[in-house]
Amino acid sequence: MSAPVVIIGTGLAGYNLAREFRKLDTQTPLLLITADDGRSYSKPLLSTGFAANKNAENLGMATAGAMAEQLNAEIRTHTRVTRLDPANRRVWIGNEPVPYRDLVLAWGAQTIQVPVAGDAADAVFPINDLHDYGRFRAAVAGKRRVLILGAGLIGCEFANDLLLGGHEVDLVAPSEQVMPGLLPLQAAEAVRNGLKGIGARFHLGATLERLQRSTDGLQATLSDGSQRSCDLVVSAVGLRPRTELAAEAGLEVKRGIVVDRLLQTSAEHVYAVGDCAEVEGLNLLYVMPLMAGARALAKTLFGNPTFVSYGPMPVTVKTPACPVVVSLPAAGSAGNWTVEAQGNDVKALYLGTSGQLLGYALTGTAVQERLALNKQLPPVLAELPQILSLKSPS
Ligand SMILES: Cc1cc2nc3c(=O)[nH]c(=O)nc-3n(C[C@H](O)[C@H](O)[C@H](O)COP(=O)(O)OP(=O)(O)OC[C@H]3O[C@@H](n4cnc5c(N)ncnc54)[C@H](O)[C@@H]3O)c2cc1C
Repeated sequence: MSAPVVIIGTGLAGYNLAREFRKLDTQTPLLLITADDGRSYSKPLLSTGFAANKNAENLGMATAGAMAEQLNAEIRTHTRVTRLDPANRRVWIGNEPVPYRDLVLAWGAQTIQVPVAGDAADAVFPINDLHDYGRFRAAVAGKRRVLILGAGLIGCEFANDLLLGGHEVDLVAPSEQVMPGLLPLQAAEAVRNGLKGIGARFHLGATLERLQRSTDGLQATLSDGSQRSCDLVVSAVGLRPRTELAAEAGLEVKRGIVVDRLLQTSAEHVYAVGDCAEVEGLNLLYVMPLMAGARALAKTLFGNPTFVSYGPMPVTVKTPACPVVVSLPAAGSAGNWTVEAQGNDVKALYLGTSGQLLGYALTGTAVQERLALNKQLPPVLAELPQILSLKSPS
């Protein structure tokens, strides 16, 4: 039998690619390898579990077995790839070599861990997949007070969801505003006010220095000297694309695994898509780019080399206490923010030097303007003419 197309990862990138590929090619052997249990689920829903009244079990949509059948694929679960060997067109699972026709890295990003002193470091929960979420939900059951590390998009979403679930929330982050790098200050203040309005307590400009067990749960000491009591800690300080194995195998790696517009890495027959991939300098940890990537890469793997392109890519932040939609201007684009605000309704537009719209941040009722604004936005990664590429996947 000919060597299979091998996809490492059964997140949204791996499964969507497999689905798109099977629409074009029902025959080529397909092997998916995943370190987790291979359940299909939508990661963005992890920060809506309480509001939607769903735990980790309900958020899982299909087992690995059901997915294998649906995709006419073999899926190896609880199996960690330990080495890439592009020169010999195989990957290694411990001592076992697995040959491939083409290899796709869809192994995502990992949570950044911050060191925490004290005897309760094991009460810090990162949440980056369904398994993490299951552990967290089991631990938080019957507990009231949650301390969240990080006030980025994910920290704010978890804060909102936990508050809706009846928990008390303290947010601790070293930045002076929420969602730094994503929201201009006025929009960030609107989100903070919205979350405060439903009970969130913010400790910005501070980090967690120490976590100790106490007679009453946990005692957190912050870098500003203050103390907070809590029952457990959620860590949402950020994600970093998984690049180690790729770098060890000599693939070009920057922030993510470097790929061209065909999503091909610096190695022949090796591609990357999703959170782990850096496409023309863009490492975007969102669903829209990975869906565009999956569609283009499926065609390339089918023998029809296809460049990926991204249209405008607005991000909806799931903080119902203060709705937010943001579309960042491209890094380094010349221009300025202009802001109109009425209470927590903020309309911030990023205008280029000739007045053209390059990005926006909308909060509160201003989010209603997003569709009209999207029409004016430039694409994040413009379409290229589909010239015939010399890099054919066969
Ligand atoms: C709480 C939360 C909310 C979010 N909300 C949104 C949102 O509203 N909108 C949005 O666009 N994006 C959102 N995102 C981001 C979005 O979920 C991710 O961009 C997307 O899920 C990434 O998918 P992926 O398949 O690239 O990676 P992952 O889902 O991380 O999948 C990686 C896979 O690789 C496997 N793997 C890793 N290493 C190995 C190995 N060595 N061997 C074998 N298998 C391996 C893992 O087991 C896993 O199956 C959110 C993220 C989080 C955490």
